[in-house]
Amino acid sequence: MDRWIEETFHPHWRVRLEASRVLHEVKTEHQHLVIFENPTWGTVLMLDGVCQLTTSDEYVYHEMMAHVPLMALERPKRVLIIGGGDGGVLREVLKHASVVRATLCEIDRTVIDTARQHYPSIAGGAFDDPRSEIVIGDGRAYVANAQGGFDAIIVDSSEPIGPSAVLHTREFFQDCRRGLKRGGVLVTQNGLPFLFPQHLADTTAAFASLFKRVAPYLCTQPCYFGGPFALNLATDDKHVLKVDAKHLAKRQKKRGVGPLRYWTPEVHVAAFALPAYAQEVVEQAIARARDKGERAAQYLASLPQAPAAEEGET
Ligand code: SAM
Repeated sequence: MDRWIEETFHPHWRVRLEASRVLHEVKTEHQHLVIFENPTWGTVLMLDGVCQLTTSDEYVYHEMMAHVPLMALERPKRVLIIGGGDGGVLREVLKHASVVRATLCEIDRTVIDTARQHYPSIAGGAFDDPRSEIVIGDGRAYVANAQGGFDAIIVDSSEPIGPSAVLHTREFFQDCRRGLKRGGVLVTQNGLPFLFPQHLADTTAAFASLFKRVAPYLCTQPCYFGGPFALNLATDDKHVLKVDAKHLAKRQKKRGVGPLRYWTPEVHVAAFALPAYAQEVVEQAIARARDKGERAAQYLASLPQAPAAEEGET
């Protein structure tokens, strides 16, 4: 009789997934980890009762976490990934030929080891790429002590619970800002705005108090039940949010980032158009940051097509 594994994240409702085969289950130093096979979703990773990824739809989240910030930048060279021990974001980051160094700081070695063993197709060799630097440690401490100089910092953390809670704090984002090059981009996962508007509000307010530009964007991640999934982007460089679909397509072609399964130039631009209920949360969070007298970011409700980028840039 197959076991059914429950996602225990939502207080008043549960999702159960059939485990046709449990591949690995352990209480690590940091969290409870279980990897199992499901006839619909493929191989599933759950941490502390929260679905992190499935092999059937992981490309959605990983492409939007990596390509929105990197395609928005002219020539990203150094990228820092916090969390992301499954290797999916690293895989996508390394598709950009301009990237010379991709550092991944993951707190739990077991996540990386079991990813290599049970779903190697997700990283697809990215862990062993000569441009990859894998660090086992707490991302909070890593950015606090980092030398900086990153073009992009991508926070592929779990939900704001357990070891990941520190990765959703203003103090952490402040250290990330210090670790960025001028005009660099910070992106973080920001949960399900329909179910957890406070998560989106808190991160937006923190970003608005630290950066000139803050722009949440959405994707549809089938295995994150509860509506569109939010990612949040912060930068001081206004150009980052003004690259139109035509130029994104040119960059994709020039960089040789092959056909992707979710990200397209049009999806990139459209992802920043938020439904009214989410836009309201964001605008109130910005207003709150402003009321606090903290430097508040302009929130670009929509991305007017900006002047064409310079000829010859990649
Ligand atoms: N896509 C998933 C989501 O949105 O829930 C995240 C996937 S990824 C597997 C999350 C990773 O963050 C896990 O491997 C976890 O071990 C790692 N992590 C949690 N807290 C961390 C910390 N403080 N520093 C570095 N990595 C951390």
